[in-house]
Amino acid sequence: MEPTVSRADIRFHLWGIPVRVHPFFWPIVVFLGWGLGDAVAIASWVGAVFVSILVHEMGHAQSARQFGHSPRIVLYGFGGLAIYHPRSTDPAWQRIVVLFCGPGAGFLFAAVLITFDSLAGFPNTPFLRQLYAHFLWINIAWGLLNLLPIFPLDGGQIAFHGFQRLAPHRGARIAAIVSVVTAGVMALLAYSLQQPYLAIFFVYFAVINFQNFG
Ligand SMILES: [Zn+2]
Repeated sequence: MEPTVSRADIRFHLWGIPVRVHPFFWPIVVFLGWGLGDAVAIASWVGAVFVSILVHEMGHAQSARQFGHSPRIVLYGFGGLAIYHPRSTDPAWQRIVVLFCGPGAGFLFAAVLITFDSLAGFPNTPFLRQLYAHFLWINIAWGLLNLLPIFPLDGGQIAFHGFQRLAPHRGARIAAIVSVVTAGVMALLAYSLQQPYLAIFFVYFAVINFQNFG
């Protein structure tokens, strides 16, 4: 899953967490924002996606660290990863807390921005206004999508651990069925709302979960 190390990787530490940005991260983000039009819009989009994915993965990583793990973050062509190695003895609730803290960090970030905007007013330049709009959209809408019970999204992993606990022998199968049904419904919804990329994204998740039925 994790991309190989490349010489074009950007590496840094953020609040004690090692971060690696694979070069494929940038062209994919630019591609997704290409339709926005001018250079200012695309630049604000790329900045907003970079910071928002970092905030999300930081939520996972910092909470994992609280439970004694040594996580690291990788941003790559398919988004972000907060990599750590849960112990088999870790209680399920700890994994669920770590999973929730990704979208949770995004919601908190959006709340801080909205509060700042209403109290002080977000600076009113075209770049910063667009950045603000992208920040709200990515951190709220993507955060909510990420909480859907579709494996391997955060919500799907939370559902998986929950079902495993309720029904240890059938939990994985139930989680796969719930994933296929939810992803199928979301694909139809995205298609009817004329969101083709989103529809493809959900069809992909429906297919990989269908393969887990066995
Ligand atoms: Zn996540």
